[in-house]
Amino acid sequence: MLESSSNYFSPDKGSTPADARPSARELSLTGIERALWPHSPKPPKNLAFALAIALFRHGALTRDETARIGLIGTRRFPIVDRALRIEPLLEYRRHVKADSDGSIRTVLDVRRLTRGGRVESIEAVTIPHREDLTLCLSSQVGCALACSFCATGFLGWRANLTPGEIVEQHAWAERLAGRRVTNIVFMGMGEPLLNYENVIEAAYRLTRTEGAQVSHRKIVISTAGVVPMIRRFTREAHPFQLFFSISSAIPEKRREIMPIEATYCLQELREAMVEYLASRKRNRLVTIEYVAIPDVNMGEADVEALRKFVDGLPCILDVIPYNAVGDRYRPPTWAEVKNFTTAIGSLDIPVKIRYSGGKSVAAGCGQLAADQVTAATPGGHMTAPPGIFSDLH
Ligand code: SF4
Repeated sequence: MLESSSNYFSPDKGSTPADARPSARELSLTGIERALWPHSPKPPKNLAFALAIALFRHGALTRDETARIGLIGTRRFPIVDRALRIEPLLEYRRHVKADSDGSIRTVLDVRRLTRGGRVESIEAVTIPHREDLTLCLSSQVGCALACSFCATGFLGWRANLTPGEIVEQHAWAERLAGRRVTNIVFMGMGEPLLNYENVIEAAYRLTRTEGAQVSHRKIVISTAGVVPMIRRFTREAHPFQLFFSISSAIPEKRREIMPIEATYCLQELREAMVEYLASRKRNRLVTIEYVAIPDVNMGEADVEALRKFVDGLPCILDVIPYNAVGDRYRPPTWAEVKNFTTAIGSLDIPVKIRYSGGKSVAAGCGQLAADQVTAATPGGHMTAPPGIFSDLH
């Protein structure tokens, strides 16, 4: 295991709170061009493109890097300086690399957010698999949904990340992994559909020519089942994939594991899944995620309930063996996972056992923010605060 907490990178210290210039990292290509116009003697289209390529495709983090990679010389950079801030939105805190599979868990501070004198942090994980490198992104600081198997859920909701902060995780990921990201999953900290506009904007930016150029088919947004936003996603026909986490098909049990069940029940979720599937030209199956917890949701009654839930629903079941977070549950043995998947084999649907990259460095599914929970929330489990769903449309 390689661990680093040294100063991997010191960001430029250029801006002050009174600095009125927008951050280039929060703007689209068009936004950058618009910001440059008043400061540029000639149309700044090429300059905007060079800047965007440096920041978003090549992940430049310092002013020097931006100038070098974007080929922006001393004649043109003053125009950028007058119009925009370019220092990073996130600050590197540390990363740890798993010997076992090369997964890298990176902790990044969100520079604009402090709590109790401490800068808030998020985590991003890269998981290599043959030619592919999957990046698991965070969309929020903490999460309001309080799933009982998830460390982030213990933190409660703290803030939504901006599109720039979401996209910048990609730059750090490629820098630390030393290779291109091929797949992106919104399965890190936070419920992406509770930060809907910013997540969708970030996902599009990650596909762009001047951006990371990840194929939209390789971007997955995983939701715990925020039904109104699933319906909105379906109406708006975004090209990314949605995955749906249920973790139990028994309503009472699901309510214990995933408190969102009390607001959007399995039946509504299933209807929203059917609508989503019907709207898709390419996807023939919906992906259902199931965190398998021994002595909780891996018994005969659970398989029977799943049978009813998937009946008539073209789907694939992603079984995610529970990863240790606290001492409420224990991870399943391999034999238990095998027995469970054999039992659900009788449901006649494709079943996959999800590999959780980086378990050895607490980067597996459900483990992100485990350090912060240990530090800040000894015991106890937060429940979703009232009213968090009230503005959804
Ligand atoms: S599993 Fe996802 S939705 Fe549930 S608490 Fe964790 S981050 Fe939030």
